[in-house]
Amino acid sequence: MTFEYSKRVPHNDNDVVGEILEAAANPAVISFAGGLPAPELFPVEGMKKAADTVFDNEGQTALQYSNAVGETVLREEIVKLMTDRGVDTSVEHVGVTTGSEQSIDLLAKMFVNPGDTVIVEEPTYLCTLDVFRSYGANIVGVEMDENGMRMDKFEEALKAHPEAKLVYTIPTFQNPTGRTMSVDRRKKFVELANKYDLLVMEDDPYGAIRYEGEELPPLKKFDTQDRVVYMSTFSKILAPGMRLGWIVCNVDVLSNFVVMKQSADLHSDNLSQHIIATFLKQNDVYEHIKKISDLYRHRFELMLDYIKKEFPADAKHSHPEGGMFIWIELPGEVDTMELFKTCVEHNVAFVPGDAFYPNKPKMGTFRLNFSNVDDETIEVGMKRLGTALKEALEA
Ligand code: PMP
Repeated sequence: MTFEYSKRVPHNDNDVVGEILEAAANPAVISFAGGLPAPELFPVEGMKKAADTVFDNEGQTALQYSNAVGETVLREEIVKLMTDRGVDTSVEHVGVTTGSEQSIDLLAKMFVNPGDTVIVEEPTYLCTLDVFRSYGANIVGVEMDENGMRMDKFEEALKAHPEAKLVYTIPTFQNPTGRTMSVDRRKKFVELANKYDLLVMEDDPYGAIRYEGEELPPLKKFDTQDRVVYMSTFSKILAPGMRLGWIVCNVDVLSNFVVMKQSADLHSDNLSQHIIATFLKQNDVYEHIKKISDLYRHRFELMLDYIKKEFPADAKHSHPEGGMFIWIELPGEVDTMELFKTCVEHNVAFVPGDAFYPNKPKMGTFRLNFSNVDDETIEVGMKRLGTALKEALEA
Protein backbone atom coordinates (compact mmCIF):
# COMPACT_ATOMS: atom_id res chain seq x y z
CA MET A 1 0.00 0.00 0.00
CA THR A 2 1.23 3.50 -0.75
CA PHE A 3 0.43 6.01 1.91
CA GLU A 4 -0.59 9.50 0.98
CA TYR A 5 1.29 11.71 3.36
CA SER A 6 0.52 15.39 3.81
CA LYS A 7 2.78 18.02 2.29
CA ARG A 8 4.27 18.61 5.72
CA VAL A 9 6.11 15.28 5.60
CA PRO A 10 9.46 15.76 3.83
CA HIS A 11 9.33 14.18 0.34
CA ASN A 12 13.06 14.08 0.01
CA ASP A 13 14.60 11.08 -1.71
CA ASN A 14 18.01 12.57 -1.17
CA ASP A 15 18.22 12.22 2.62
CA VAL A 16 21.58 13.90 3.27
CA VAL A 17 21.24 13.97 7.04
CA GLY A 18 20.16 10.31 7.18
CA GLU A 19 23.21 9.32 5.12
CA ILE A 20 25.52 11.30 7.40
CA LEU A 21 24.08 9.82 10.56
CA GLU A 22 24.33 6.32 9.13
CA ALA A 23 27.99 6.78 8.16
CA ALA A 24 28.82 8.38 11.49
CA ALA A 25 27.15 5.55 13.42
CA ASN A 26 29.77 3.02 12.24
CA PRO A 27 31.84 2.38 15.41
CA ALA A 28 35.09 2.57 13.42
CA VAL A 29 34.28 6.17 12.44
CA ILE A 30 35.29 9.03 14.73
CA SER A 31 32.41 11.44 14.48
CA PHE A 32 32.65 15.19 14.87
CA ALA A 33 29.19 15.28 13.29
CA GLY A 34 26.99 15.16 16.38
CA GLY A 35 25.81 18.02 18.53
CA LEU A 36 25.60 16.35 21.92
CA PRO A 37 26.66 17.90 25.22
CA ALA A 38 29.35 16.11 27.27
CA PRO A 39 27.43 13.47 29.29
CA GLU A 40 30.17 13.22 31.95
CA LEU A 41 29.06 16.66 33.11
CA PHE A 42 25.37 15.90 33.46
CA PRO A 43 24.56 16.75 37.10
CA VAL A 44 23.41 13.24 37.95
CA GLU A 45 23.84 13.50 41.74
CA GLY A 46 22.23 16.96 41.91
CA MET A 47 19.26 15.78 39.85
CA LYS A 48 18.92 12.68 42.00
CA LYS A 49 18.79 14.82 45.15
CA ALA A 50 16.33 17.25 43.52
CA ALA A 51 14.15 14.32 42.41
CA ASP A 52 14.15 12.90 45.95
CA THR A 53 13.07 16.28 47.30
CA VAL A 54 10.27 16.48 44.74
CA PHE A 55 9.03 12.95 45.48
CA ASP A 56 9.23 13.55 49.25
CA ASN A 57 7.46 16.91 49.25
CA GLU A 58 5.23 17.18 46.21
CA GLY A 59 5.14 13.77 44.52
CA GLN A 60 1.42 13.82 43.87
CA THR A 61 1.48 17.29 42.32
CA ALA A 62 4.47 16.46 40.13
CA LEU A 63 2.88 13.27 38.80
CA GLN A 64 -0.45 14.95 37.98
CA TYR A 65 -1.41 16.70 34.72
CA SER A 66 -0.23 20.28 34.66
CA ASN A 67 -1.04 23.37 32.55
CA ALA A 68 0.30 24.25 29.12
CA VAL A 69 2.07 27.48 30.10
CA GLY A 70 4.24 25.63 32.62
CA GLU A 71 4.65 25.31 36.38
CA THR A 72 4.95 28.65 38.19
CA VAL A 73 7.87 27.41 40.33
CA LEU A 74 9.91 26.81 37.19
CA ARG A 75 8.77 29.99 35.44
CA GLU A 76 9.95 31.95 38.50
CA GLU A 77 13.39 30.34 38.22
CA ILE A 78 13.45 31.16 34.50
CA VAL A 79 12.71 34.83 35.29
CA LYS A 80 15.85 34.83 37.50
CA LEU A 81 17.94 33.28 34.70
CA MET A 82 16.62 35.93 32.29
CA THR A 83 17.53 38.73 34.73
CA ASP A 84 21.08 37.32 34.82
CA ARG A 85 21.07 37.39 31.00
CA GLY A 86 20.21 41.10 31.10
CA VAL A 87 16.49 40.80 30.30
CA ASP A 88 13.91 42.18 32.73
CA THR A 89 10.77 40.11 32.53
CA SER A 90 8.07 38.53 34.66
CA VAL A 91 6.29 35.21 34.96
CA GLU A 92 3.38 36.38 32.73
CA HIS A 93 5.81 36.54 29.78
CA VAL A 94 7.38 33.13 30.31
CA GLY A 95 6.18 29.81 28.88
CA VAL A 96 7.78 26.41 29.47
CA THR A 97 8.29 24.24 26.39
CA THR A 98 9.39 20.73 25.50
CA GLY A 99 12.79 22.05 24.43
CA SER A 100 13.56 24.83 21.97
CA GLU A 101 12.73 22.45 19.17
CA GLN A 102 9.08 22.67 20.20
CA SER A 103 9.28 26.46 20.56
CA ILE A 104 10.52 26.70 16.97
CA ASP A 105 7.87 24.31 15.67
CA LEU A 106 4.94 25.94 17.44
CA LEU A 107 6.00 29.48 16.51
CA ALA A 108 6.34 28.44 12.87
CA LYS A 109 2.93 26.76 13.08
CA MET A 110 1.48 29.98 14.52
CA PHE A 111 2.99 32.44 12.07
CA VAL A 112 3.78 30.68 8.80
CA ASN A 113 1.15 30.01 6.16
CA PRO A 114 2.26 28.16 3.01
CA GLY A 115 4.14 30.60 0.78
CA ASP A 116 4.98 33.09 3.57
CA THR A 117 8.50 34.48 3.51
CA VAL A 118 10.80 33.95 6.48
CA ILE A 119 14.35 35.18 6.82
CA VAL A 120 17.21 33.21 8.36
CA GLU A 121 20.94 33.64 8.56
CA GLU A 122 22.80 31.43 6.12
CA PRO A 123 23.97 28.86 7.11
CA THR A 124 21.60 28.06 9.98
CA TYR A 125 20.30 25.27 12.26
CA LEU A 126 19.11 22.52 9.95
CA CYS A 127 16.12 21.41 12.04
CA THR A 128 14.72 24.95 11.86
CA LEU A 129 15.00 24.77 8.08
CA ASP A 130 13.08 21.48 8.20
CA VAL A 131 10.38 23.06 10.36
CA PHE A 132 9.97 26.08 8.08
CA ARG A 133 9.91 23.81 5.03
CA SER A 134 7.23 21.61 6.55
CA TYR A 135 4.96 24.64 6.96
CA GLY A 136 5.60 25.63 3.33
CA ALA A 137 7.68 28.73 4.02
CA ASN A 138 9.63 30.54 1.36
CA ILE A 139 13.02 30.69 3.12
CA VAL A 140 15.36 33.59 2.35
CA GLY A 141 18.95 33.25 3.59
CA VAL A 142 21.10 36.23 4.60
CA GLU A 143 24.88 36.03 4.41
CA MET A 144 26.97 36.10 7.59
CA ASP A 145 30.53 37.01 8.40
CA GLU A 146 32.60 36.58 11.56
CA ASN A 147 30.30 39.08 13.36
CA GLY A 148 27.07 37.26 12.57
CA MET A 149 24.36 38.19 10.08
CA ARG A 150 25.45 41.06 7.80
CA MET A 151 23.13 44.00 8.36
CA ASP A 152 23.62 45.40 4.82
CA LYS A 153 22.52 42.03 3.40
CA PHE A 154 19.65 41.83 5.90
CA GLU A 155 18.29 45.19 4.74
CA GLU A 156 18.78 44.19 1.11
CA ALA A 157 16.73 41.03 1.75
CA LEU A 158 14.01 43.07 3.46
CA LYS A 159 13.81 45.49 0.55
CA ALA A 160 13.66 42.58 -1.91
CA HIS A 161 11.05 40.78 0.24
CA PRO A 162 8.79 43.42 1.82
CA GLU A 163 6.30 40.60 2.42
CA ALA A 164 8.70 38.90 4.89
CA LYS A 165 6.90 38.15 8.11
CA LEU A 166 9.53 36.92 10.50
CA VAL A 167 13.22 36.47 10.99
CA TYR A 168 14.90 33.59 12.83
CA THR A 169 18.38 34.07 14.28
CA ILE A 170 20.84 32.37 16.62
CA PRO A 171 22.88 35.44 17.62
CA THR A 172 25.29 33.78 20.05
CA PHE A 173 27.65 30.85 19.28
CA GLN A 174 25.52 30.02 16.29
CA ASN A 175 24.79 26.51 15.10
CA PRO A 176 26.53 25.62 12.78
CA THR A 177 29.20 28.36 12.63
CA GLY A 178 29.90 29.13 16.30
CA ARG A 179 29.84 32.82 15.33
CA THR A 180 28.38 35.61 17.48
CA MET A 181 26.55 38.75 16.37
CA SER A 182 28.30 41.93 17.58
CA VAL A 183 26.48 44.38 19.89
CA ASP A 184 26.25 47.04 17.17
CA ARG A 185 24.64 44.54 14.85
CA ARG A 186 22.23 43.42 17.58
CA LYS A 187 21.00 47.00 17.94
CA LYS A 188 20.77 47.45 14.17
CA PHE A 189 18.99 44.10 13.84
CA VAL A 190 16.21 45.19 16.22
CA GLU A 191 16.02 48.59 14.50
CA LEU A 192 15.47 46.86 11.15
CA ALA A 193 12.93 44.45 12.64
CA ASN A 194 11.01 47.50 13.93
CA LYS A 195 11.30 49.35 10.61
CA TYR A 196 10.10 46.39 8.55
CA ASP A 197 7.61 45.13 11.13
CA LEU A 198 9.04 41.63 11.62
CA LEU A 199 8.47 39.10 14.33
CA VAL A 200 11.88 38.01 15.64
CA MET A 201 12.57 34.43 16.73
CA GLU A 202 15.75 34.65 18.83
CA ASP A 203 17.14 31.15 19.47
CA ASP A 204 19.68 31.12 22.31
CA PRO A 205 20.57 27.57 23.40
CA TYR A 206 24.32 28.20 23.69
CA GLY A 207 24.73 31.80 24.95
CA ALA A 208 25.34 30.76 28.58
CA ILE A 209 28.27 28.53 27.58
CA ARG A 210 30.92 31.19 27.05
CA TYR A 211 34.60 30.41 27.60
CA GLU A 212 36.18 33.53 26.12
CA GLY A 213 35.36 37.23 25.71
CA GLU A 214 32.66 39.51 27.11
CA GLU A 215 29.08 38.46 27.71
CA LEU A 216 26.64 40.06 25.25
CA PRO A 217 23.00 40.94 25.90
CA PRO A 218 20.35 39.01 23.95
CA LEU A 219 18.45 40.85 21.20
CA LYS A 220 15.49 40.72 23.58
CA LYS A 221 17.23 43.33 25.74
CA PHE A 222 17.06 45.86 22.87
CA ASP A 223 13.45 44.97 22.06
CA THR A 224 11.46 48.19 22.60
CA GLN A 225 8.35 46.97 20.76
CA ASP A 226 7.90 43.53 22.31
CA ARG A 227 8.42 41.82 18.95
CA VAL A 228 11.27 39.49 19.92
CA VAL A 229 10.33 35.99 21.03
CA TYR A 230 13.33 34.77 23.03
CA MET A 231 13.86 31.00 23.19
CA SER A 232 16.27 29.06 25.36
CA THR A 233 16.64 25.62 26.86
CA PHE A 234 17.98 23.52 29.72
CA SER A 235 19.42 21.07 27.16
CA LYS A 236 22.94 22.51 27.03
CA ILE A 237 23.25 23.83 30.59
CA LEU A 238 21.67 20.87 32.43
CA ALA A 239 20.40 17.84 30.51
CA PRO A 240 18.78 17.47 27.07
CA GLY A 241 17.01 14.24 28.05
CA MET A 242 14.71 16.18 30.39
CA ARG A 243 13.36 18.00 27.31
CA LEU A 244 12.67 21.38 28.82
CA GLY A 245 13.07 24.83 27.35
CA TRP A 246 11.28 28.17 27.52
CA ILE A 247 10.11 31.21 25.61
CA VAL A 248 9.90 34.82 26.77
CA CYS A 249 7.53 36.99 24.75
CA ASN A 250 4.60 39.32 24.40
CA VAL A 251 1.57 38.16 26.45
CA ASP A 252 -0.67 38.00 23.40
CA VAL A 253 1.80 35.75 21.56
CA LEU A 254 2.17 33.65 24.70
CA SER A 255 -1.58 33.13 25.08
CA ASN A 256 -1.83 31.89 21.48
CA PHE A 257 1.30 29.81 21.94
CA VAL A 258 -0.32 28.12 24.93
CA VAL A 259 -3.38 27.21 22.85
CA MET A 260 -1.13 25.65 20.18
CA LYS A 261 0.91 23.85 22.82
CA GLN A 262 -2.20 22.34 24.34
CA SER A 263 -2.95 20.68 21.01
CA ALA A 264 0.64 19.51 20.64
CA ASP A 265 1.31 17.88 24.04
CA LEU A 266 -1.04 19.36 26.70
CA HIS A 267 2.02 20.45 28.68
CA SER A 268 5.71 19.71 29.08
CA ASP A 269 6.79 16.93 31.44
CA ASN A 270 5.56 18.03 34.85
CA LEU A 271 7.98 15.87 36.85
CA SER A 272 10.99 17.26 34.97
CA GLN A 273 9.70 20.80 35.56
CA HIS A 274 9.56 20.25 39.32
CA ILE A 275 12.95 18.52 39.40
CA ILE A 276 14.68 21.29 37.45
CA ALA A 277 13.01 24.03 39.52
CA THR A 278 14.22 22.27 42.69
CA PHE A 279 17.70 21.70 41.24
CA LEU A 280 17.96 25.42 40.49
CA LYS A 281 17.00 26.27 44.09
CA GLN A 282 19.40 23.72 45.62
CA ASN A 283 22.46 24.45 43.44
CA ASP A 284 24.47 27.30 41.98
CA VAL A 285 23.77 26.69 38.30
CA TYR A 286 26.61 29.03 37.31
CA GLU A 287 29.14 26.82 39.10
CA HIS A 288 27.83 23.97 36.97
CA ILE A 289 27.89 26.04 33.77
CA LYS A 290 31.50 27.03 34.54
CA LYS A 291 32.50 23.34 34.56
CA ILE A 292 30.88 22.92 31.15
CA SER A 293 32.56 26.03 29.72
CA ASP A 294 35.96 24.99 31.12
CA LEU A 295 35.75 21.56 29.48
CA TYR A 296 34.49 22.95 26.17
CA ARG A 297 37.24 25.61 26.16
CA HIS A 298 39.81 22.86 26.54
CA ARG A 299 38.30 20.74 23.76
CA PHE A 300 37.87 23.75 21.48
CA GLU A 301 41.51 24.78 21.95
CA LEU A 302 42.73 21.25 21.33
CA MET A 303 40.69 20.96 18.14
CA LEU A 304 41.94 24.38 17.03
CA ASP A 305 45.58 23.28 17.55
CA TYR A 306 44.97 20.32 15.26
CA ILE A 307 43.23 22.49 12.66
CA LYS A 308 46.38 24.64 12.61
CA LYS A 309 48.71 21.63 12.53
CA GLU A 310 46.84 19.21 10.27
CA PHE A 311 44.56 21.17 7.91
CA PRO A 312 45.68 22.75 4.62
CA ALA A 313 47.07 26.22 5.46
CA ASP A 314 44.42 28.05 3.44
CA ALA A 315 41.46 26.36 5.18
CA LYS A 316 39.50 29.01 7.11
CA HIS A 317 37.88 28.33 10.47
CA SER A 318 35.56 30.28 12.76
CA HIS A 319 36.80 31.17 16.25
CA PRO A 320 33.84 30.63 18.59
CA GLU A 321 34.03 32.13 22.08
CA GLY A 322 31.55 29.57 23.37
CA GLY A 323 29.10 26.89 22.35
CA MET A 324 29.91 23.59 20.69
CA PHE A 325 30.84 24.08 17.01
CA ILE A 326 33.60 25.19 14.65
CA TRP A 327 32.87 26.03 11.02
CA ILE A 328 35.38 25.24 8.29
CA GLU A 329 35.59 26.83 4.84
CA LEU A 330 37.96 25.27 2.32
CA PRO A 331 39.38 27.25 -0.57
CA GLY A 332 38.23 26.62 -4.14
CA GLU A 333 35.20 24.72 -5.40
CA VAL A 334 35.17 21.63 -3.19
CA ASP A 335 32.14 19.34 -3.37
CA THR A 336 31.63 18.77 0.35
CA MET A 337 29.45 15.70 -0.10
CA GLU A 338 32.25 14.00 -2.07
CA LEU A 339 34.73 15.17 0.53
CA PHE A 340 32.51 13.68 3.21
CA LYS A 341 32.68 10.27 1.48
CA THR A 342 36.49 10.44 1.33
CA CYS A 343 36.60 11.31 5.03
CA VAL A 344 34.32 8.42 5.95
CA GLU A 345 36.73 6.11 4.06
CA HIS A 346 39.36 7.50 6.46
CA ASN A 347 36.99 6.73 9.37
CA VAL A 348 36.21 10.30 10.34
CA ALA A 349 32.99 12.30 9.90
CA PHE A 350 31.58 15.85 10.13
CA VAL A 351 28.38 17.48 8.92
CA PRO A 352 28.73 18.79 5.35
CA GLY A 353 27.77 22.47 5.11
CA ASP A 354 25.09 21.71 2.49
CA ALA A 355 22.67 20.61 5.22
CA PHE A 356 22.61 24.10 6.78
CA TYR A 357 21.78 26.16 3.71
CA PRO A 358 18.16 27.01 2.88
CA ASN A 359 18.87 27.17 -0.83
CA LYS A 360 22.20 27.01 -2.66
CA PRO A 361 24.95 25.71 -0.36
CA LYS A 362 28.39 27.28 -0.14
CA MET A 363 30.91 24.73 -1.39
CA GLY A 364 33.73 23.40 0.77
CA THR A 365 32.06 24.11 4.12
CA PHE A 366 31.49 21.81 7.07
CA ARG A 367 30.73 21.78 10.81
CA LEU A 368 32.87 20.20 13.51
CA ASN A 369 31.58 19.45 17.00
CA PHE A 370 33.97 19.32 19.95
CA SER A 371 31.72 19.10 23.03
CA ASN A 372 31.32 15.33 23.08
CA VAL A 373 34.79 14.03 22.15
CA ASP A 374 37.67 13.38 24.55
CA ASP A 375 41.29 14.43 23.97
CA GLU A 376 42.44 11.19 22.40
CA THR A 377 39.47 11.09 20.04
CA ILE A 378 40.17 14.68 19.00
CA GLU A 379 43.83 13.86 18.37
CA VAL A 380 43.25 10.69 16.33
CA GLY A 381 40.18 12.05 14.50
CA MET A 382 41.75 15.38 13.55
CA LYS A 383 44.86 13.64 12.19
CA ARG A 384 42.64 11.41 10.04
CA LEU A 385 40.68 14.45 8.90
CA GLY A 386 43.86 16.35 8.02
CA THR A 387 45.10 13.43 5.91
CA ALA A 388 41.73 13.04 4.16
CA LEU A 389 41.46 16.77 3.41
CA LYS A 390 44.94 16.92 1.91
CA GLU A 391 44.21 13.85 -0.19
CA ALA A 392 40.89 15.25 -1.40
CA LEU A 393 42.26 18.72 -2.15
CA GLU A 394 45.29 17.39 -4.03
CA ALA A 395 43.17 14.98 -6.10
N1 PMP B 1 18.15 25.45 18.40
C1 PMP B 1 19.41 25.19 18.10
C2 PMP B 1 20.22 26.22 17.40
C3 PMP B 1 19.99 23.96 18.47
O1 PMP B 1 21.27 23.72 18.14
C4 PMP B 1 19.19 23.01 19.15
C5 PMP B 1 19.74 21.66 19.58
N2 PMP B 1 20.65 21.05 18.80
C6 PMP B 1 17.86 23.33 19.42
C7 PMP B 1 17.38 24.57 19.05
C8 PMP B 1 16.93 22.37 20.10
O2 PMP B 1 17.28 22.15 21.40
P1 PMP B 1 16.31 21.53 22.51
O3 PMP B 1 15.03 21.14 21.84
O4 PMP B 1 17.04 20.37 23.06
O5 PMP B 1 16.10 22.62 23.49
